[in-house]
Amino acid sequence: MAYDDSNIFAKILRGEIPCKKVYEDDFALAFHDIRPLAPVHVLVIPKGPYVSLEDMSMKAPPAFVGGFFKAVAETARVLNVVESGYRILANIGTDAHQEVMHFHVHLFAGRPLGGMLKRVD
Ligand code: 5GP
Repeated sequence: MAYDDSNIFAKILRGEIPCKKVYEDDFALAFHDIRPLAPVHVLVIPKGPYVSLEDMSMKAPPAFVGGFFKAVAETARVLNVVESGYRILANIGTDAHQEVMHFHVHLFAGRPLGGMLKRVD
């Protein structure tokens, strides 16, 4: 799927839509999710036109991919959730119900987060 820069996170990156920023560096921007599913629910997005991890891993240089994941870890430090623990999750594609077609990592924390996935048999 081609990247479409009219998606909501591209607009946030361009400053056209506001966000509650948590952390920013050359590789990533982290901000609070507008519909939080946990006391802490932050989105970390790469500063590049990537639809998914698949897209980013194929197109971005390894230093960028590494920089992005270091930014995810730094976001957890800024949020002060490393000791208590946190969960990261990325929805990629149809089966995962990805809504926004700009790659993003969800970071959840602030309460016991329960099992990894709801069992659906
Ligand atoms: P996905 O299902 O694509 O993994 O998750 C997209 C996430 O983006 C959802 O958790 C949704 O609440 C969040 N979101 C959608 N629009 C906005 C927005 O305009 N601002 C912020 N901060 N989050 C958004």
